[in-house]
Amino acid sequence: MAKIYYDSDTDVDILKNNVIAIIGYGNQGRAQALNMRDSGLKNIIIGNIKDEYWQTAKEDGFEVYLIEEACKKGDIIFVLVPDEVAPEIYKEKIEPYLKEGNVLNFASGYNITYKFIQPSNYVDVVMVAPRMIGKGVRELYLGGKGVPSFIAVKQDASGKAKDIALAIAKAIGSTKKSVIEVTFKDETFLDLMSEHVTWPLIISVLTEVYNFEIKMGHPEEAVLMELYGSKEPAIMMEEIADIGLFKQLPLHSHTSQYGQLTRYEIIDKDYIRKFAKEQYRDLENGRFAREWRIEQDNGLPVFKKLIDKAFNCNISQAETKLKQRLK
Ligand code: NDP
Repeated sequence: MAKIYYDSDTDVDILKNNVIAIIGYGNQGRAQALNMRDSGLKNIIIGNIKDEYWQTAKEDGFEVYLIEEACKKGDIIFVLVPDEVAPEIYKEKIEPYLKEGNVLNFASGYNITYKFIQPSNYVDVVMVAPRMIGKGVRELYLGGKGVPSFIAVKQDASGKAKDIALAIAKAIGSTKKSVIEVTFKDETFLDLMSEHVTWPLIISVLTEVYNFEIKMGHPEEAVLMELYGSKEPAIMMEEIADIGLFKQLPLHSHTSQYGQLTRYEIIDKDYIRKFAKEQYRDLENGRFAREWRIEQDNGLPVFKKLIDKAFNCNISQAETKLKQRLK
């Protein structure tokens, strides 16, 4: 059974004598820095390149340094730059300044799991990974609610790595909700499986049903509204999270419940199982990580082509037209 931690399991005070260096003042960096300061931590500095985020950090009242400088000054170093650029930044601007006793904290397991970053054995390596975009991390904290996170310890040089990870989770507001202890691999694989299996399947269902219903002569505006334009699926997702995948069914009519359950029973799920297995295998053998690395090194030709295709497909065009006509 996974271990789950709450506010009473930890104390932010154990971080008070450390300088916390947030590297990257973007989505997560800003939200986590502001939350930690509001949780009573005063020794927070920002490491960033000189861009608009640098300015935002200054306006928010933080001391801002170049990444190398922040690493020299920091005891606990949050690596909150995008995963694609983190290995290069780590090699050039973080690793040379690490000292014994430092803690490296990641918000994603990707670069450690695939060994794109291999920290020296004299530092602690932990992960506090919010299951939420940065905006949500901040807004839920301000609303007194907190956001769930995964935590993990990869290296425990100090013997206190888990205590530190838990205290960080509390400082950003996660233990208020719940913090689940996982491994870096769990976080990486679960995140990628959502991206490689769950969402592509959901998107495929929506595009296939849209194209079929249009072919059957139904108005595209009504098809879009029914599929997701009304935001009914967003509300259903909230109910699924709160009540349960099946247990939210009584919120629908009997006709709807009967139709959903009988058709769910007869859908052939073999393809989904096979697809999930293939995608998982590509995570285990590192094929996806290699493919993505090569794509980035080549200047993202496939990615750019696919984004262009998706943004210009018939469903994207129909959405634009519908949006102009809706209140
Ligand atoms: P952002 O895209 O918001 O970028 C964070 C910061 O990195 C910005 O200040 C950005 O500045 C800087 N940056 C980008 N490229 C470079 C570069 N080449 N050199 C130096 N600085 C650079 O990142 P996120 O906050 O989205 O992600 C940070 C971490 O959090 C990642 O590990 C991600 O997986 C994880 N995470 C993200 C979530 C999310 O919802 N976004 C959710 C949970 C975890 P600039 O853009 O000006 O270059």
